[in-house]
Order: sequence, then C-alpha cells, then structure tokens
Amino acid sequence: MRCLLCHKEIGTNPSFREIFWEEDVLCYGCRKAWKKEKAVRVIAGCKVETYWAYNDAFQKALIQFKECYDEALKEIFLYPLRNYFPFKYFGYTLLLLPSAKEKLEARGFSHLKEMYSLFQMPMLEPFEMLSNQEQKQMSQKSRLQRKKQIRLKANITLPKKVLLVDDVITTGATMEGAIHALNGMPLKLKCFACANVKKKQLY
Ligand SMILES: [Zn+2]
Repeated sequence: MRCLLCHKEIGTNPSFREIFWEEDVLCYGCRKAWKKEKAVRVIAGCKVETYWAYNDAFQKALIQFKECYDEALKEIFLYPLRNYFPFKYFGYTLLLLPSAKEKLEARGFSHLKEMYSLFQMPMLEPFEMLSNQEQKQMSQKSRLQRKKQIRLKANITLPKKVLLVDDVITTGATMEGAIHALNGMPLKLKCFACANVKKKQLY
C-alpha cells in the first residue's frame, strides 16, 4: 500500500520505528509531521472535542484536499480515530456543518461528508448558510449576525442524539452558528472537529 500523501510504499524495508507503527494510510514520515493534540474548546456553552493541532502539515493536507479537489485524501484526517470515534459516539447522528454555497458549488463535493464517511455512521446535512447576497443585505454588526448566517433547512426532523462535526475550529463562529440554530430543541448535543486553531495562531 502506498502513502496517500507522498506515495511512498508503506511497509517495505521498514525502519525499526515503523515496525511498531500503527496501521495507517500515511507513511511514518508523513504522519510524524502531524501533531496529535487532543483538546476541548467550549463554544456557546458546548464542549467541542478536537484531535489534531492545526500545524503546517495538517493545513497543507487540508488545503490539498479541499481546494485542490483531491478526494483521494479523504481518509487521512480521521483514520487514526476509525475505532475510537464510532465507539465513543455510538448512537449519535453526525450533523455536518455547512460550507458557503458558493464554495460548495466550486468544489463539487462535500468535503466533510467525504471525510466523515470513514466511520459509516448516520449523517445529515441539516444546515444551510445564507448566500453572500443574503449576508450582504444584513447590516455590518458582526457577532450576532454571524449566528444568523446559519439556519436549519426547512422541514428537517432531527434525531435525539446529534454530533456536530467540522474540519477545523478557527474562531468557532460556524460551530456557534450551528449550535445557535439548534437552540431550544430537545436534543442531546455533542461537538467534534478534526483540528483546533489555537487563539495565538489567529493573529
Ligand atoms: Zn508519506
């Protein structure tokens, strides 16, 4: 099998370290550049679990996947969680956070759907973002406005246990918007994102 990032054959002439390397879709060298850093961020009163640090290697791979439309990379982000995740969130339905309509159309595939399909768990895309046009019609004041940029699609019925999932938590505004859109619904709500951007990285 070849590494999905550098295409090097995995497992031929393994080094001593690689012999004990966990099964993966990336070679030891590529994976080593990623930094596992489990964290919890609190957004709108909800705990958001994250797994990777948003370092250069992660960012580069995510851009290659999302912006260069490289669908082959869909498994690399969550592969180390393939056993843990469905166990931890057993019984939950994944709710994918929305992308801007314009970006989704340009990309031609839902990157979150591809990424999270690894777990073979039930998934829904119940949210939509207001279009750029709709957003422009709002006044400038941002914080409360941001929450309103995401809404539930019409006639959506949600299961009782839902897990909001995203790729990266940056400012947390998208997650906050989705949580806000679910406000007042009798749900058991959990949140997860692949990677976390630390506050100091934002500036
Ligand atoms: Zn590699």
